[in-house]
Amino acid sequence: MNTAAVRARLIERDGFKCKVCRVKLTVPGDPQLASKPTDASIDHIIPKSKGGVSADYNLRLLCYKCNTTRGNKMPERDVNLSFSFGRASFSFDITSTNVSARIEIK
Ligand SMILES: [Zn+2]
Repeated sequence: MNTAAVRARLIERDGFKCKVCRVKLTVPGDPQLASKPTDASIDHIIPKSKGGVSADYNLRLLCYKCNTTRGNKMPERDVNLSFSFGRASFSFDITSTNVSARIEIK
C-alpha cells in the first residue's frame, strides 16, 4: 500500500488526533519511520495477523506510543466507523469478536 497516500486520507477523515488517547499528532516526514511518541502511525483496527485488511475502513491513525503498546490485540473497545464515498455510505461495527458492515447507496 502507498503509506503516504493512505496517511493523507486518514488525516483528512479523522484529523490530527490519536483515536485512542486524543493527543495531537505530529507527522514524520517518512510515514514508515514514526519514532516520537506523538508521531502519527497507521493502525490496523483488526490486526493483520488476525485477518484484518489494509483498507481504509480497517485503518486509523494512532500516535506511535498507543500503536506500539497495542501490538496485535483486538480493539480495546467496540468501534463504529462511518464514512461516505460519493453516493455510498459505509458503516462498520467492530467488536472483539465480530465485524459487521452496512453499505447504503443514496
Ligand atoms: Zn495515542
